[in-house]
Amino acid sequence: MMTTNRTPLGLYLHIPFCVRKCNYCDFVSFAGQGEDVREAYVRRLCEDIKTAGARYGDRYLVDTVFIGGGTPSLLDPAQIARILDTVRSSFVCSLSEVTLESNPGTFDEERLRGFLDAGIGRLSMGVQSLDDGVLKRLGRIHDSGTALKAMRVAKCLDLNFNVDLMLGIPGQTLEIWEDTLKRVIEEGPKHISFYSLQLEMGTPFYRDFKEGRLELPSWEENRAMYHKALEILKDAGYRHYEISNAAIPGYECRHNLKYWTMQDYLGLGMAAHSFLGGNRCFTTSDLKAFLAGPAEPEWEGTDEHDRKTDFVFTELRLIDGFRKQDYQNMFGRGFEEDFGPAYGELVREGLMEEADGFVRLTQKGLDQTNPVMERLLNV
Ligand code: SF4
Repeated sequence: MMTTNRTPLGLYLHIPFCVRKCNYCDFVSFAGQGEDVREAYVRRLCEDIKTAGARYGDRYLVDTVFIGGGTPSLLDPAQIARILDTVRSSFVCSLSEVTLESNPGTFDEERLRGFLDAGIGRLSMGVQSLDDGVLKRLGRIHDSGTALKAMRVAKCLDLNFNVDLMLGIPGQTLEIWEDTLKRVIEEGPKHISFYSLQLEMGTPFYRDFKEGRLELPSWEENRAMYHKALEILKDAGYRHYEISNAAIPGYECRHNLKYWTMQDYLGLGMAAHSFLGGNRCFTTSDLKAFLAGPAEPEWEGTDEHDRKTDFVFTELRLIDGFRKQDYQNMFGRGFEEDFGPAYGELVREGLMEEADGFVRLTQKGLDQTNPVMERLLNV
C-alpha cells in the first residue's frame, strides 16, 4: 500500500488493569481483574483496532503507538504481540515509536525481552520516587529496589526508556526529591517526566486531604522542587521541552508531541480520547459496556473558538511555545487579533513573551500555568 499522501496518525491503546489502585490515581483502571477479563479485553480491543483500520485506514499512516493505562505491562508479551500485529495488519504503518507504559513491579528481564520481541521499542516506567516512605504513602506496589532493578534491566537491554516521577508528594522534602532525581539520572533514561501531584476527587488522597489527615508540601516547596529538577536535568544534558517533560535531545516523545501540536491521534480501548481532523471523541469508561461490544464512536465537532483555544492551550505547554505565523496560517487571523488584550497584560507582567516569532510562557509563567491559561483563554 502507498505510504505517500497519507496523514500521520498516533494510536493510543488503553489497557485499564492494575495490580492495585494507587492512593492518588483517578485514571480509568481496575484492580483485581482476572486473566479471563484481561483476555476478553484484548480480544475486544483487537476487534476495535480492525474496525478502526477499515474505517480510517485509507487516509492515515500510523507512525506512533502508545500503549497506556492502567498498567499495560500486566499483560502477557504474547497479548501485546497480538495487539501490535493487529495494528500492523489493519493500518498502513511506518512505526517510528512504539511505547509501553509499565509499572516496575510487573516485569523482569524475561518479560521485558518478550515485550521487545512483540515490537515495543520504548518503555515508559512509572517510578514516581526512589524513597520507600514516599512510595508507601503513594500506595505503589513496588519499592525503590524494584524500581532500580527495573531501570537496570531496561538499560542492560539498551532500551530507550522514560521514567515518570512525581513531585509535591506528602512527606517529600527537597532533599528526597533531589536524591531521587539524581539516582534516576544515573540509570540513563533518555526521557524523564516530572508531574506535580494533583489531588483528584474520589481518591483516598483527596478524602484524607479534605479530612485534614494529609499535608502537602507548600506551593513554595513544590516550586523549589520543580526548579531544582530543571537545574539538575539541564546539567545532565536533558532538554526541558514541555512543562513537565525533559529528554536527551532527539528522544522527545513523538507520540505525546502529537497531543501538544494538534496532530491527529486515535484512541482505542476504554476511556480513550481521539482527535481527528479537528473533531474529538471519547470512548466509554464502563468496562462492561466496552466488553459487550463495539459502540459507534460519538464524535464532537469543534467550532473555530474551540480550535483556537485548543491550539493555544496545548501548544503553550511546549517550552518553545508556538510560531505566530502557524496561528495565522491555521486560522487566517493574527494571534494578537484574537488574544491581544489578555496577552499584552501577561507580557507586561512577565508571564509571557515573544522571541523570534514564537509566543511562549516565561519561567515565571511556567510556575503559574493554570491561572495564565485561564486569563489568556477567557476571551
Ligand atoms: S499504577 Fe498507574 S494507573 Fe495504576 S493505579 Fe497506580 S497510578 Fe493509577
